[in-house]
Amino acid sequence: MSVPIDLHCHSTMSDGLLSPEDLVAHAASKGVRVLALTDHDEVSGLARARAAAEQHGIALINGVEISVTWKKRTLHVVGLRVDAENSALLMAFQQVREAREARAREIADGLAKAGIAGAYEGAKDIAGNSVMTRSHFAQFMVKHGHAKNIKTVFKKYMVKGKPGYVNHEWMSLEQALQLIRDSGGVAVLAHPGRYDLGFVNMHLLLHEFRNLGGAAIEVVTGSHQPPQYEQFAKLAHRFDLKASQGSDYHGPGLSFMEMGRLPALPSGCVPVWQDWPEASQLQ
Ligand code: AMP
Ligand code: MN
Ligand code: MN
Ligand code: MN
Repeated sequence: MSVPIDLHCHSTMSDGLLSPEDLVAHAASKGVRVLALTDHDEVSGLARARAAAEQHGIALINGVEISVTWKKRTLHVVGLRVDAENSALLMAFQQVREAREARAREIADGLAKAGIAGAYEGAKDIAGNSVMTRSHFAQFMVKHGHAKNIKTVFKKYMVKGKPGYVNHEWMSLEQALQLIRDSGGVAVLAHPGRYDLGFVNMHLLLHEFRNLGGAAIEVVTGSHQPPQYEQFAKLAHRFDLKASQGSDYHGPGLSFMEMGRLPALPSGCVPVWQDWPEASQLQ
């Protein structure tokens, strides 16, 4: 990692395995100097992460990863530098939390029909007070021997066409970008290489994202294969968007990439942190 910045990761406040404190300690131990915690539709871990970051002498950037429905597909938009006390933001996330609860019941109903009983209670037990995600169901299923690992659970049970999949309507791209902007943040399209959009729709998405005030796309992420770094660096340039980088770390055994291992952004990228005081010492 040429610039020790990681702008995408998860704690137990969503579907990560480490508490905000342990996550920050882990990041610091791996050499990360500027960290954004970006839990799914949730900002409640940020205060704890900030206190831990002060102890470890690293900078904490407020963040969140918002689930969005765009053309019947689920996309993720990362909001960075949001005000975690903004009331519109908190109200919207409260609604998402409730919708995720209802969705979790539907997921469990689907799994029950496939012969897997007690999934709601099992996933809830793992989630505790966190927002309910498919990851919690996946962990429950592995624990009870329904599949050998998380990847297999998703493939067999949790994706479109499978018994534990629910077609959920998240907020619109427009609404997510408005929430981020109104709370003082900048919007970053998360892991664009994961959406399987095709050339035309990817261009449509980036055009729309930019017109709605989107600032950057993730170029280097644990969710991209190395050839995609160049591909999305080019697209960022073409659509006049900045570039971001983040591991999307979820904890040991639940991540594509360890923290502190991000390669540098391809040359020509304008980093989203270009004007940030927290990053001024690092470049
Ligand atoms: P949800 O927001 O409840 O739909 O859960 C989405 C989360 O599930 C993502 O943020 C990932 O952490 C995880 N996830 C999605 N697809 C996979 C996959 N194929 N393998 C492992 N984890 C996945
Ligand atoms: Mn996740
Ligand atoms: Mn994501
Ligand atoms: Mn993520």
